[in-house]
Amino acid sequence: MRPATRPCPVLGCDQRIPYYWLMCRPHWRRVPILLKRAVWATYHEGQQDDLSLVTPEYIEARRLAVEAAGADRGGEQRGGHEDLKPFPMGYGDWP
Ligand SMILES: [Zn+2]
Repeated sequence: MRPATRPCPVLGCDQRIPYYWLMCRPHWRRVPILLKRAVWATYHEGQQDDLSLVTPEYIEARRLAVEAAGADRGGEQRGGHEDLKPFPMGYGDWP
C-alpha cells in the first residue's frame, strides 16, 4: 500500500502533500500559467494509478513546473489561478 502523502517535490520544501498532488499549494501558485496549462494539457485522468497513461510530455511539463516553482521570482504570479483546477495530479512515487 502506498502512503497517503509524500513530500512536495520542490527543492527545499518540507510540505507533505497528498500523493496525487503535483506539489504543495504555495508552490503551485508560483508556477506560471502557461506551465500550469501544459501540465493539465498533458495530464491523463487516472494516470496516478496507471503508469501506462503517463506521457513523456507530461513528465517534461511537470519537470518545468517544479523547476519554475522552486525558482526565486519574487512571489506569486499574477493571474496564476486563472481557469485551472488548483492542483494537477502527479502519479505514484515522485522520482
Ligand atoms: Zn512545496
